[in-house]
Amino acid sequence: MSTPETRLTRPPAFHIMLKPRGPICNLDCRYCYYLAKQSLYPRSRFRLSEKILEEYTRQYIQAQQVPEATFAWQGGEPTLLGLGFFRRAVELQQLYRRSGMRIRNTLQTNGVNLDDEWCSFFREHDFLIGISLDGPPELHDVYRVDKGGRPTFDRVMAGVALLKKHRVDFNLLACVHAANADHPLEVYHFLRDKVEAQFIQFIPIVEPAQDSALQNVKQASQLSVKGRQYGDFLIAIFDEWVKRDVGTVFVQLFDVALAAWCGQQPGLCMFEETCGLALAMEHNGDLYVCDHYVEPRFKLGNIMQTPLAKLVASKRQVQFGQAKRDTLPSYCQACEVQFICNGGCPKNRVLTTPDGEMGLNYLCQGYKAFFTFIDRPMKLMASLLQAGQPPANIMHILAQETATRPFQYIQAGRNDQCPCGSGRKFKRCHGRRSSLGSAGDLI
Ligand code: SF4
Ligand code: SF4
Repeated sequence: MSTPETRLTRPPAFHIMLKPRGPICNLDCRYCYYLAKQSLYPRSRFRLSEKILEEYTRQYIQAQQVPEATFAWQGGEPTLLGLGFFRRAVELQQLYRRSGMRIRNTLQTNGVNLDDEWCSFFREHDFLIGISLDGPPELHDVYRVDKGGRPTFDRVMAGVALLKKHRVDFNLLACVHAANADHPLEVYHFLRDKVEAQFIQFIPIVEPAQDSALQNVKQASQLSVKGRQYGDFLIAIFDEWVKRDVGTVFVQLFDVALAAWCGQQPGLCMFEETCGLALAMEHNGDLYVCDHYVEPRFKLGNIMQTPLAKLVASKRQVQFGQAKRDTLPSYCQACEVQFICNGGCPKNRVLTTPDGEMGLNYLCQGYKAFFTFIDRPMKLMASLLQAGQPPANIMHILAQETATRPFQYIQAGRNDQCPCGSGRKFKRCHGRRSSLGSAGDLI
């Protein structure tokens, strides 16, 4: 049986974010945590050589004890390596692929370099593309600018249009930060209706106040989202999604939460009990414990000197992974939503708990509010799944409830229990301003 210990010491599969062009990027997004990593490799050209590419491909495929291997290309901006690099990468994958093994490629891009040639390559080789887009132009362009400080929205949208033209699978990654956090529905409606994205991730920006290559957030920067603000952002979107978009729009965090409410592993590292299976490799073969800890003291070694599988199962990596669980404050251990939250990502555990213990997540207030808000609908969807029904049936259930209970909502006082049955005060649940469209909108 797989336990957290054996999962880390003998992992059947693991995930590595590849940085083939290191932190080099054609944009200058104000909140990017990776641009500063250039200082870790002075004088480097930041290009993954063919020799390292081949060695990585061979070792990575060999180390996966499952019938699938995913190559995750990240940056910086990976398309800056040119298409020739990726053509060779795909050739090498076929060369080392075991019989019956499925190879997948995912590539995260800012989208501005895409053209017909790139997109037809992605389509031909079945790449899943992640596009970074923070909402409509007035929200996206606040921080996502190029090296000259110019807006990038139109260029990103041109890239999205090309992906659609070539029928390339893509998902949307929207960062949540000081500029767009108070506009959840504008962001969601834009991504759903204008971009027609079916798969969306909302990533909270929590970055240190000072520019640094180290990820130690002591004080969050002005452009970071605030804890409760992130929770309210997610609540407003969930509130709309659960009433009309279940089964047609897939929001990563909502899927992850449903898995947890069904008693399964969340499947997203920040909400797992332990870390350790999501590493990062820089352009020269240096392997780090995680993409958020690319700094000298978290370097495990180099795959050209020590086999990748050995580094992944090394004592240091196992200790790093287990530390997430072992340092969880008692405040979190006693928390009602710990089964899904697990204290969140260790990089953001920078606050002190009310009882004075260090290690509370910067986003705690938001996580607690969000996971409490979704408890009842999640339980409903989990029971639908258990009964062999699609979770989307929740939309009919909620619509029927609304039809039979409008007066309860209208009559509820701000401090009364919410009629939806969540156990929360009306003002903190469906009496919240962002929840209230009309009485007919209430769940
Ligand atoms: S440190 Fe954070 S990002 Fe890294 S593996 Fe752990 S939870 Fe994931
Ligand atoms: S919601 Fe807050 S207290 Fe609860 S587990 Fe998450 S970080 Fe800890």
